This record gives sequence, C-alpha cells and structure tokens, in this order.
Amino acid sequence: MSEAKTNRFTLDRAALGDVLKRIAQPICVIDKDMDILWANEAAEKLFGQGIVGRKCYQVYFLRGEPCEPQPCPAMKVFHEGSAHEHEAAVLDQQGRQRYFHCTCSVALWDEQGRPAAVVQVSQEITRQKQAEEALRKAKDFYLKLFDAFPNPIWRCRPDGTMDYFNQAWLSFTGLQPVEALGQGWLKAVHPQDGEELLKVHSQALQHKRGYTHAYRLRHRSGQYRWVQEHGSPFYDLEGHLGGIIGTCYDITECRQQREHLSYMATHDALTGLPNRLLLRERLQQAVAMARRRGRHVAVMLVDVDHFKLINDTLGHEVGDQLLKALAARLLKCVREGDTVARLGGDEFILSLADMAHGQAAAIVAQRIHNRLAEPFQVAQKEFFVTVSIGIAIYPQDSEDLNSLLSHADAAMYRAKQSGRNTYLFFTTEMNEQSYKRLQLETTLRRAIEAGQFRLYFQRQMDVLRGRCVGLEALLRWQHPELGLLSPAEFIPVAEETGLIIPIGQWALREACRSNMRLREFGLEPLKTGVNLSMKQFKHVHLHALVEQTLSETAMPARLLELELTESAVMGDPAHTAMVLHKLRALGVRVAIDDFGTGYSSMQYLRHLPVDTLKIDRSFIKDIPEDNNAVAIVRAIITMARSLALEVVAEGVEDARQCEFLKKEGCHLMQGYYFDRPAPLQEVLGRLRG
Ligand code: C2E
Ligand code: MG
Ligand code: MG
Repeated sequence: MSEAKTNRFTLDRAALGDVLKRIAQPICVIDKDMDILWANEAAEKLFGQGIVGRKCYQVYFLRGEPCEPQPCPAMKVFHEGSAHEHEAAVLDQQGRQRYFHCTCSVALWDEQGRPAAVVQVSQEITRQKQAEEALRKAKDFYLKLFDAFPNPIWRCRPDGTMDYFNQAWLSFTGLQPVEALGQGWLKAVHPQDGEELLKVHSQALQHKRGYTHAYRLRHRSGQYRWVQEHGSPFYDLEGHLGGIIGTCYDITECRQQREHLSYMATHDALTGLPNRLLLRERLQQAVAMARRRGRHVAVMLVDVDHFKLINDTLGHEVGDQLLKALAARLLKCVREGDTVARLGGDEFILSLADMAHGQAAAIVAQRIHNRLAEPFQVAQKEFFVTVSIGIAIYPQDSEDLNSLLSHADAAMYRAKQSGRNTYLFFTTEMNEQSYKRLQLETTLRRAIEAGQFRLYFQRQMDVLRGRCVGLEALLRWQHPELGLLSPAEFIPVAEETGLIIPIGQWALREACRSNMRLREFGLEPLKTGVNLSMKQFKHVHLHALVEQTLSETAMPARLLELELTESAVMGDPAHTAMVLHKLRALGVRVAIDDFGTGYSSMQYLRHLPVDTLKIDRSFIKDIPEDNNAVAIVRAIITMARSLALEVVAEGVEDARQCEFLKKEGCHLMQGYYFDRPAPLQEVLGRLRG
C-alpha cells in the first residue's frame, strides 16, 4: 500500500468511534458488572435510546416481563479470558422476538492485564431461526400424520436399512421400534418372502424406481397376512436419493376372494371337481407330457344311465347328493395325477395321464363298474347306479384335444345304445355313426314340412269281451334314405333339439283326425292313446294345444287318452298335479305309460288325477316264468285296483302271458299277440274283422 493512501486513511480515535457507531450489527461494550458502557446506533435502534448505563440482561435477555437479573453469557469472557459465542433471543422495540448470534471478546484490559470490558457483536439470525422452527413444526406435523395413518408406513435409507416405522406398522407387527429399526424388521416378514423383498428394495434404490410388491407380513397375532407394498424413492433438497418410503395394504381378504373366484371359475360347484376349463388345461398338460415321453393319455367320458329319471322322480336334491357320492367314488378309481372332472349334468370326464398303453384304460373302466356294484345310500334310500363309458386314446385316436373329447363322446353314445352299463373304446365307425346322427338332426328339421311322419296304430284289446276298446297312435318317420324309422331312433334327437314340440303337435292332431275318420268307414271312433314326451308335458302351451286340437277335429275329449311316462309325471309334484287337473278338466283321460320303470310311490299316485296305468313291456316279457316279474305285475294290478285305475298290459306276445294276466284280473292288453302297429288302412280291416 502506498504511503499517501495510508495517510489518507489514517483514522484517529474519534473517527474510529464513528465507524463503529455506524456498523450495521448491534455492538455493545459491557463491563464486569453487566453495565452497558457503550452501544452503537444499530444496538440503540434495536433496544431504544438510552441503553447505555443499563444492565445488559435488562435489554438482551428480554423474553417477556419482568426481567430478572440473569448471568450474562458475555461474563464468561471475564472468567475465562477468551472470546465466547452464544445465541440470544430478544424483544425489539416493536415487541417482536428476534434472534442473534453474539460474539464476545475482550475490549479493554485493566492495569493488571485482566479483562476490564467486553465487546459484544450481534449478528441477527431471526430468519434462520424461523426457518428452523418451521421445519421443526413441519417434521412434527408429518410424524403425527404418519402415525395417524391407518396403514403401515416405513422409510429406509439409501443403504437399505430402516430408519422409520409409523405407529400402524409397529402395531401391525407388534414390534418395538428398537427391534425393527435397521434390519430387525425382517423377522416380521415370512421366511419365504424375505429374500425376494430385499431384492425388490435394493433394485428400487439402485434404479430409483417405484414398485408394487406383495408378501406376507406377520401380524402381532402370529398369523401371516398378505400385504401389498408400494414403495417410492425420495430425495433430499440437494436432489440426492434419501431412501424409499413404503406403504403397506392388507390384501389378505382380497387375495382370498380372488383365489375363491378363480377356484369357482375352474371347479364344479356341486362336487368340487375340476370343470371343463380346468380339465382342458390338465388334458393339455397330460398330452404334452405324453408327447415328450412317448406315453398315452386316455380320455374317458362317464355318463350316468337314466340319471334324468332319478332326478325327475326323486327331485334334484337327491340327484345332487347322488352325483356328489358318485364323484367321490370316481376319484377313488384313478391314480394321483389323473383328473376327474364334471362337465355338468350327469357327465364326468376322466383324464388318465402317463399310460404305457391306451388299453389300460379298460382296467379303470372295469374298476368304476365294480365300484358301482355297491349301492349308494342317499336320503335314507339305496340306489344302484350304472354308467356308460366312452374312451378315446391319445395318440392313436387323435392328437387333437377337441377330437379326443368328441371321440370319447361318440364312444359313450354307442355304449348307451348298446344297452348301457358298459364301456367302449372309440372306433372309426363310431365317427360315421355320430355323423349319421348329425345328419338325422338336419333332416329331422325338414321332415314335418316334407310330410315324412306317419302314424301307426295298435289296438288295445279287452280279452274278456274279446273286442278292441281303443287304439294307441305310434309315430314313424318315413326317412327318404334310411326307410321307416321307429321312435327310438329319432325321438331322443327330437327331444334334444326341441323339435319334439312341433312333431308332437302333428302327432296329436293326426291321431284325433284319423280316429274321427273311422266314421267315414262306418265305424265308431275309439278311445285313442297319444304319447307325450316329458318336454311336451312341461311345455306351457300343452293345455291350449289339446283344447284347440279337440275342437278342430271334433274329437270327443273322453276318447283322447294322453300317455305320459312315469318319469315325466314324477318330476315336480305340484306342477304335475296342476297340469293334469287342467287337462282332465277338458275331459281327456290320462294314462301312465311304461309303469314300473320309474320310482313313483302309491302315496304319490293317490294324489294324481290319472285314469290308467300301462304296465311296462319289460315285466310282461318275463311272465309267468320269472318270479320277480310276476310279483311286480301282481303288485301293479293290485295297486291299480285299489286306486280304482284301469290297468293295461303292454307288449303281450303270447297266449301264456295273456292267460296269466287274465287270471290276475288284468284284461286290457296290447301286443304282438293281437297285432303289430300298422297304418290306419290296415287297422281298419282288423277292426271290421
Ligand atoms: P310306448 O308308448 O310304450 O309304446 C309301446 C311300444 O311297444 C311301441 O313301440 C310298440 O310298437 C311296442 N310294442 C307293442 N306291442 C309289443 C310287443 O308285443 N312286443 C314288443 N317287443 N313291442 C311291442 P314303438 O312304436 O317303437 O314306440 C316306442 C316308444 O316311442 C313308445 O313307447 C313311446 O314312448 C314313444 N312314442 C311313440 N310314438 C310317440 C309320439 O307320437 N310321441 C312321443 N312323444 N313318443 C312316442
Ligand atoms: Mg305309449
Ligand atoms: Mg309303454
């Protein structure tokens, strides 16, 4: 520095005092007795004029009234002889609280070289203090907020250790903060889930990405609960990763519900067996495995024989129980790794996996039949159930799942046709058969318009009087290629497709019309039996149809006898009685056909408005040799008599049967012994004769 410059800025004591006076920071000089000896302008502005001469604690430590003498931190300088710093809170002239950082150091020494006065320079830090306070409050607020939050919340540091758990987390797990902080929390995580969870956390920290992850967290009750955790990274003010904040939601119920739903979607509600969906999946797996290992898979379709009869006569509840019991037995017939599925109704599918050859399926089929030899106990009754089984084998019958299923179906259908209670392996001819059946369905749709149906008639004889007392109308289909078909060949298809309704209408009308035509040939109309299928009986317009047909054809109602099979009338008792009453109110007669094959009881029959029982041909066939058949026929005749019903024996084929029935008191008969069903023209001749 040049000498001129130094001279220009040489300050005397007074000038120096002025400089000090104008410094923006409050400055005071304080003596040993805490008296303020000197103050600059900034200090006077802060505390008011005239602070010099006052005690420093009266101006500096005013945290409200009244001011008590307090040890001033500045005094430390006297005791320790060195500079000292402290913070002070003061009320300014306007009464506002302000904060200062004060630096005190020795200003003057006495003759002995001891500190005689202290200079205190104050730097205002009110803003900083306020910011700190706001921060503290905010922290307090968020902590309270997190603790009030009902879901568990935690925070981890960038190194993955936990440094915070909210109240909900602690009370969920029952852990104390000291146990949980750091790595201790892991003991609340399911042992199988811990490793994966740590990986998720470290990935989130590494890639600074949020995540959602489900795992099991031990509840304080000791039970593991499924929680869904959402974690997101957070950053400090400088933008550095601060760690992750995570929240957990208890999703145990949700998961259970989802599991339940997916179970429901893949299982049959009644039996708990896999349904079609799951079966397909299992079959696919079985086929894939068989393909790799060069093994075989059997697809086995099991259908209960005459299940409809059981269901309709004994009610759905009994039917359901029987299906459940059957499902349990089927399960016992297969190995682990095989699947027993229910496709609805009385159809079960078995997938037999990993077989050395397809023929081994016969063993399982045989086992099923053996198991069913024992009766079922349902609703305090014993039932014997038989099943028809169709089997298709991968890979010899097909490599395609759908084809395997339809082949098993075709084989099952054939098993039914060949008398039920048996099993059949699929053969290629069966394919042709099911093709034929499909064709039948298509041609059946056109048969009515094409006028291909015929009615045949069979006489009903009164053997006592030796004359014909009625006719039964029996349907035939004059098929353009297959020739004359009997009802057994097309009625099931007609029922399945609903075509039985228009076909039945045609048969009823034609039967009445034919009967009335007898007059044209000089004969009196006769009582005429017309068969109704279950579908027709359940159809809403049956009553109207009968009424309309009678009036259209002028057929006297008392001459029309509607024949219903036992199974058709035994379904819903209340509905049956209602429909029958309405029909009888028209004046028509009601007969129960094929009587003895169903499950109806006398108790039940007593309440039904019925005129006639027709004893099923299967019993007549075996009389008089078979004792059982004799007993049944006798019982039916006795029962009919006691209920004042007419009784007709069907299928009488020889004189011995006829004689026996006559002796037992049943003299109304039908059968080849008298005549075979024939077109009206032919029957006319027999009636005249
Ligand atoms: P169903 O009502 O029990 O008719 C008696 C069946 O026994 C007739 O068979 C008849 O030809 C046959 N039959 C009569 N006498 C004898 C005999 O001495 N020996 C033997 N072996 N059989 C005899 P069909 O005509 O083949 O009819 C079979 C079944 O088809 C009928 O049984 C009936 O349930 C049903 N059906 C016939 N026509 C109709 C119809 O128009 N509508 C409905 N829904 N079903 C019909
Ligand atoms: Mg009949
Ligand atoms: Mg019959």
